[in-house]
Amino acid sequence: MHEWALAQSVIFTALKQRPKSRLKITIALGELQQVDEEIFRLGLKEFAKLEKLKATFSIKRVPAKLRCNNCNKEWLFSKGELSEREAESIHFVPELAHTYIGCPQCGSPDFTVVEGRGVWVEKIEVE
Ligand SMILES: [Zn+2]
Repeated sequence: MHEWALAQSVIFTALKQRPKSRLKITIALGELQQVDEEIFRLGLKEFAKLEKLKATFSIKRVPAKLRCNNCNKEWLFSKGELSEREAESIHFVPELAHTYIGCPQCGSPDFTVVEGRGVWVEKIEVE
């Protein structure tokens, strides 16, 4: 499961700081990244325990940035703009995004995801 691999890489990133006290780690999660947040959190907890890392985690969703291939307009997209059913469909079949999302300027369903995939450590603070 890739949630575990992602969680492991976050923990390894944090360990590089050689923490002496408890850390507060902020993780950014791209809106279009397919991650089961519950499993991801569980993975973070388990790997932290394994590596004896004391940390609290805060996960925030980052809106996707899309660019129209027809008129080059860029816009931000968050799943909140879709109905639950549409969001669900996209979660399982990402290609379906093009069925539900269109350029706000010209309506074209032909777009590129500029940002919004991926998981990264945004901030590590000492608590
Ligand atoms: Zn367009």
